[in-house]
Parts: sequence; C-alpha cells; structure tokens
Amino acid sequence: MVAIQSEERDVGFVLQGLRHAIDKLELEFARFAAEFAQGEQWDDEGLNSAADWMRFNCHMTSSAAWRALQVGKHMEELPQSLEALSSGDIGYAHLTTIANTADKVTGFEESELLPLAREHSPGKFHYKVMHYRHARDSKAYNREQEQLVEESYLRLSTAEDGCLLINGVLDPARGGEVRGVLEPLARPSGAHDDRTRDQRMADAFYEQLTAGGPANVQVTATVETLRAMAGAAGGEMEFSLPLPSATVQRLACDSSVMRVLFAADSLPVDVGRSRRLVDGGLRKALAVRDKHCQWPGCERPASWCDGHHVVHWVDGGETNLENTVLLCKRHHRMVHEGGWKLIKVEGKIVSIAPTVTFGLPRGPD
Ligand SMILES: [Zn+2]
Ligand SMILES: [Zn+2]
Repeated sequence: MVAIQSEERDVGFVLQGLRHAIDKLELEFARFAAEFAQGEQWDDEGLNSAADWMRFNCHMTSSAAWRALQVGKHMEELPQSLEALSSGDIGYAHLTTIANTADKVTGFEESELLPLAREHSPGKFHYKVMHYRHARDSKAYNREQEQLVEESYLRLSTAEDGCLLINGVLDPARGGEVRGVLEPLARPSGAHDDRTRDQRMADAFYEQLTAGGPANVQVTATVETLRAMAGAAGGEMEFSLPLPSATVQRLACDSSVMRVLFAADSLPVDVGRSRRLVDGGLRKALAVRDKHCQWPGCERPASWCDGHHVVHWVDGGETNLENTVLLCKRHHRMVHEGGWKLIKVEGKIVSIAPTVTFGLPRGPD
C-alpha cells in the first residue's frame, strides 16, 4: 500500500516536471513564431498568414497558433511573467491570458495581473481577468461582447438518417440565459431515469422548444397507420422522415398538440374532434386532479404535459377524466414508442418496463 502511494507521488512529480518543460518549450515556440511572422516565408509559400502556415506545417489548431503569436508578440513587455513561468509559479496557460490582455488593454501593467495568475488556476484566472478588463475599459468590453453577439449562429441540417444536426455558437450572455433555462429541465426526473447528461439536455431542449401550445406541425397518417396495422405506411410530417405508427399514436393521443389528417382514400374514423381533444374543461380538470406528470416520481407541471388516453381514442377510448392522465413529453414517449405500460395499483400509477428493447441502437455497439 505504502509502495503504491509513493509510486503515485512520483508520477505526479514527473507530470509536473514534464508540464514545466513543455511550458518552457511553448515559450520558445512563441518567440520563434513571432520572429517567423515578421519574415516573408509564409507569404512566399502562398499562405494568408503566419498562423495559417503554422496550422498546416506545425499541425496546430488556429487558436493554438494564434495564441503562440500573441505570446511572442508581447513577451518583451512581460519580463515578470516570463520569470514567473520559468520558476514554475505560473503556467503557459496563464501566460496566454496575460498576453491576450496586453493585446486588448491599452496601458496594461503585468504587475496588476500576476498576483491573480499565481493565485488561481488558468480557467479561474481567465474569468478574473474578464472582470479586470471590464473595470479597465467597460466600453471596450461591451464592444467585444457585442461582437460575439454578431458572430453567433445556429445551423440546422438533416443527416442521412433524418436526424436534425444542430451546430451553433451563442455569445456568453445569451448562452448563459439558455443554460439557465435548460439546466433545471435537464435534471434527472422520475423513476428509471438512466439517461446521460447529454441525453437529458437533448430532451430538455426539445421540451422547452415545444412547450406551451400546439406545435406548428401537421401530421398526415392513414387510419391503418394510426392503428398500427400490418402493411401500413408510416405517418408524414414536414421536415421529418416517415414516422413510426407508435409516434403517430402519441402525437394523435393528445390531438390538441397537433392535427391529424386522414388520407382521402382511407376509412374515416368515427370520432369527432371534440372526442379526441384533451382541451378546455377536461384539460383544466386533469390539471386540478393530476397537477403534474403521473409517471412515478416525475414532477413536470401540468402545463408541460400531454393528456394521455389510457385506451387510445382510435381504439374506442373515451376522452374523459377516467380515461386520461397527464404525462410529460418524455414519459408520454416512453409509453407509446418505448413500450412501457402504466397501470393503476390501489389508485397509484405504476410503470412497467417493456419486455423487449425498442428502438435501434445508435452508433457502434
Ligand atoms: Zn398517449
Ligand atoms: Zn414525466
């Protein structure tokens, strides 16, 4: 036991030594990078900038190349910081933040930041430096944040399997607001919640965007699809690949969230709109009775829930208090698409896991 502990300490010591050596090499790299930027080699070789040349020839990301150039450019103004780096008091990661600040703040004094760098980890130091920059020049700080707003974007595209690909960047303030909305929604909820954090985030994102009111989508499905009859085609929805009948059933279950159209050549379903919709008085009564999602342990409030028909209206189930129950979107999906069953035991709802695994695994096994 003692031997293992001392071995662990040795490895830590080695790591520290290696990192210190790498940091000093980074500094040397930055010195030469700045010299290289002054020369013409990158231009002669047809590159747009020294950073571009380094990206291709030194196998670096553009931000790493850019940081090296910035450190190299300012290192002569930062003798105390270089001293602190060479004695191991601060790391290269601190130095890049100091050089970046020297680049952005006129009349910058390294002695104002060095104590903070010695005291904090690189991440925390970066955060503290943002306060410093705001204090030194709030207008410039604001301009910079506005620039980040302008550079924000969101790209939506469809993958080959029909999945929506989301790629984007939001400025810090709006990003913080979005996180503030999603984080509470992404906490584990209800019994059997074995989702990863990323999965919970995806669910929270969807739930927030589709909450409160009818989704502006139209689904077309035949009665055969709605009844999951053999040989039936899938349902259709704009921007999506054909939907499985279980999804059509869920969307049709609380028809107030969407409209279901029936193909012209299909048999009409003898159920009036008022018989399918969980809205008006019934929705209010459901909200009063259930208050929140009825999945065991789930507390998503009524306004976030769908009205689920215990016996689907397409199978003759009534749209009344006895036959409906509030379920949040995720639990509603677990019942329809996921094959979970809800039963009442002594007035309490119990969920029963499916006996077979539904859905296809995503990615390699
Ligand atoms: Zn349902
Ligand atoms: Zn729920």
